[in-house]
Amino acid sequence: MEKIIDVSLSFYDGQKTYPSPTHVETELEFTGSHDKEGMAVSTLKTSTHTGTHIDSPFHFVAEGKKLDELDPARFIRTAVVMNFSDKGVKGAITEEDLASKGEIVEPGDIVITRTDWTDKKEGAEDFFSHSPYLTPEAAQWLVDKEVSGYGIDAGNIENPDLMNTEKAAQIHQILLGGGLIIIEGLTNLKEVPEGRHEIFALPLKLKERDGAPARVMIRVTE
Ligand SMILES: [Zn+2]
Repeated sequence: MEKIIDVSLSFYDGQKTYPSPTHVETELEFTGSHDKEGMAVSTLKTSTHTGTHIDSPFHFVAEGKKLDELDPARFIRTAVVMNFSDKGVKGAITEEDLASKGEIVEPGDIVITRTDWTDKKEGAEDFFSHSPYLTPEAAQWLVDKEVSGYGIDAGNIENPDLMNTEKAAQIHQILLGGGLIIIEGLTNLKEVPEGRHEIFALPLKLKERDGAPARVMIRVTE
């Protein structure tokens, strides 16, 4: 039996995003209604890094690839899902953690770490300030494994205690500098068993940009 698991968040009006002046809060409203205009039409204003989204290398690397410069094959891959749902508040995902489940990782894969953080905390005050994160050594492990991407079900991948310091983006710099894409804001990974599965991580095709909202789905065969 085959199931398609949707691991994306819904976009909604007032959705919170990373606490930085460069990121705007989401506005999603009807600008046409059945009662008045005879049809429903909506307008969306959001950041390229809100909700479930993909970072392209250009996000932190000035000469890095932009989203629409990446080979489309980068968005349909084998995902290796690793369960670290026991990490909890400010839980560090280390090189040893990845290596302990990493024997099945092959070059070109997208490694996904499950923490269940989005499921528990999306929209909460501490969603960004207390999330699990990747250590620099773990990020380097992913680069050395030559994987194509890394994803997490949390709003960010950085150590929240380093927010607003000069190391606030060190994990992005390692991964995007290594040519990986990053998928943040995944959800619902409890529906996906550990192991290798086909993933469809399809960002909006924004022209010459740093990132974009994405619909991400994983095919699970039982
Ligand atoms: Zn991002």
